[in-house]
Amino acid sequence: MGFFDKIKRAFTGEQQEPEEVEVQEKYDKGLEKTRKTFGERMNELFANFRTVDEDFFEELEETLIGADVGFDTAIQISEALRQEVKLRNAKKPAEIQNAIIEKLVDLYEQEGINEVNELNLQEEGLTVILFVGVNGVGKTTSIGKLAHQYKNEGKKVLLAAADTFRAGAIDQLVVWGERAGVEVVRGNAGGDPAAVVYDAMERAKSEQAEVLLVDTAGRLQNKVNLMNELEKIKRVIQRELPDAPHETLLVLDATTGQNAMVQAKQFKETTDVTGLVLTKLDGTAKGGIVLAIRNELHLPVKLVGLGEGIDDLEPFEPNDFVIGLFKGLLKEE
Ligand code: GDP
Ligand code: MG
Repeated sequence: MGFFDKIKRAFTGEQQEPEEVEVQEKYDKGLEKTRKTFGERMNELFANFRTVDEDFFEELEETLIGADVGFDTAIQISEALRQEVKLRNAKKPAEIQNAIIEKLVDLYEQEGINEVNELNLQEEGLTVILFVGVNGVGKTTSIGKLAHQYKNEGKKVLLAAADTFRAGAIDQLVVWGERAGVEVVRGNAGGDPAAVVYDAMERAKSEQAEVLLVDTAGRLQNKVNLMNELEKIKRVIQRELPDAPHETLLVLDATTGQNAMVQAKQFKETTDVTGLVLTKLDGTAKGGIVLAIRNELHLPVKLVGLGEGIDDLEPFEPNDFVIGLFKGLLKEE
């Protein structure tokens, strides 16, 4: 379905499947803070400028950068809009209001050509998904939410508590396991995480589990240790199942803004990250970070966290995201 068809339906609520409405509502709610700050500034921008001139574009770039879409992205969008203004011979900002949104989606899609947004789930046999990222970003929570989803889809899910470094981390995963109704393979606090993963692989095989979600530590004595440990965990997984892990998801906290970008760069250098989970979008006014990360790091955002509840994890949908961001700004054409 085309973007504008989707927008129109989001507007009118007509012809939308109940499921579509539900997902869009989650995005709308999760992006409330971003929309409020960003939307207000955009509305001001459109109210304050009577003509599209240089000042207008400068102000637009600033507003986009303020929403953390990233410098490069902001410039690219404003360049694309300048072209659009020429093409349409537009004079008033209102004439290009929707074009801004269109450009954002275009840009996202261009950067994302050939990109797989969906998780790489095996049709047969076991899928292993490794979660990495620094402390507190939302690894354990995201695993709990995802376990719940797969379990509801009727899959046999197993969790591995390989964050043995931090006291309480194992128990936290066990609590999520109980909530989701799935088993957790665990060892002792302070124990060898690779050994836990080994046990989990054995058990997944013998019980013919379909999905194994592996939690890992976000901090060790130092960065080198952390990276070595992740490598060791990967080797253990690969010894049992050469194609695995099928995903290595880097979890990033959207509220940390540019810091999340730095973390992503560091992990990307040392680990084969296959995709991102961007959490806590509901807790930030800088939801534009999704676009910055996407466009500047060339890593697909696969899942987004939109709240603390068990149902607050969604596959990343650029359309729903952008609609959630701009809802109050869209003009019916
Ligand atoms: P970990 O150290 O990476 O395993 O992080 P946790 O899973 O323990 O999460 C740290 C905190 O972030 C917890 O209080 C979670 O409830 C919270 N959290 C995780 N994801 C989200 C989200 O999408 N939205 C909000 N608001 N909070 C989240
Ligand atoms: Mg954790």
